[in-house]
Amino acid sequence: MTRFVDVAALCRIVNRVGADRFLAGIATAMREDFRRWESFEKSARVANHSEIGVIELMPISDQERYAFKYVNGHPANANKGVSTVMAFGALADVETGFPTLLSELTLTTAFRTAAASAIAAEALARPDSHVMGMIGCGAQSEFQAIAFHTLVGIDELRIFDIDRTAMEKLRRNLLHRPDLKVTLADSATAAVRGADIVTTCTADKAWATILTPDMVEPGMHINGVGGDCLGKTELHIDVLLDAKIFVEFEPQTRIEGDIQQLPENHPVNDLWRVIAELETGRDDNEQVTFFDSVGFALEDYSALRYVQQLALELDEGEEIALIPELADPKDLFQRVLGSSTDWSGEKVA
Ligand code: NAD
Repeated sequence: MTRFVDVAALCRIVNRVGADRFLAGIATAMREDFRRWESFEKSARVANHSEIGVIELMPISDQERYAFKYVNGHPANANKGVSTVMAFGALADVETGFPTLLSELTLTTAFRTAAASAIAAEALARPDSHVMGMIGCGAQSEFQAIAFHTLVGIDELRIFDIDRTAMEKLRRNLLHRPDLKVTLADSATAAVRGADIVTTCTADKAWATILTPDMVEPGMHINGVGGDCLGKTELHIDVLLDAKIFVEFEPQTRIEGDIQQLPENHPVNDLWRVIAELETGRDDNEQVTFFDSVGFALEDYSALRYVQQLALELDEGEEIALIPELADPKDLFQRVLGSSTDWSGEKVA
């Protein structure tokens, strides 16, 4: 049987464990998996584009498990009452190919993206960082805020969005964290002024310039979350040219990240090497570092295996017959016959 974790089951898991612990658990699984980077068979995700969005498939495997995620990105969806980003995914046993987990991944993606941002910042930001400017206050923003608060030590958040109601929503959702000071800024420039870390988390299928060189200060770490698709960027090219750039999986980020604006030979650095302590992150406290986050399949693998572990431990979700279980694996037809169809394909009365 396959364990099925729907949205309600995932919410029960998060509430039983606690959102902060759930986030920390995904971050731990992700650090472990980044450290054994070379044991994974990796590929850039397969993206199918339309004028207004993209639908992507993200596979990855090691010797034990195969994982994939289905995810979309449709920036105008909010106007239709549908989320910009929606996802589901599966884990399978590599030895047999049997799918062991089918799970919602919309909520889990928000947790895993925030966990990835936080572990990148742990590796790249100045260790004394405590103020973050955040541009974009949509669906991902609370998760980013909580991850930076609980895992990186951010205690002051300055936020900006072109949609004032989104800013109010973010502030409201963070009210129960009195030790995280949240200030609404009048502009993106005001939000990032004096910040140690800047997170850009906007959605627009366009060559946007959310962050321009005049807004960047020495020593900043930039966590670029929203530039994650061909023709969809957030940073002015000169910000990229002045920063030390870190990527998840270079072949994918060259296509999808903000670095799609740069010549192909422009140097970038592997985040996993810093997490595995094979290389250092920033060279000095004055350097600007940039994590060009696009979301890589390994992060979903980590999140899926953690969700599976919790679902089994807490007995959440349900066992479903996604694959027919057969007395004789060569007699697949018997499974249909044994139910309600005769040889001619007519339904038996
Ligand atoms: P969302 O549509 O819920 O929110 C996006 C917000 O950006 C909206 O509130 C919108 O008003 C704001 N915005 C748009 N243009 C802006 C501008 N010029 N200045 C300020 N604010 C602006 O989307 P979401 O689910 O929060 O996702 C945010 C982005 O993150 C998307 O681009 C999505 O594709 C991306 N994303 C990346 C990853 C990753 O792993 N890197 C994972 C998930 C989502």
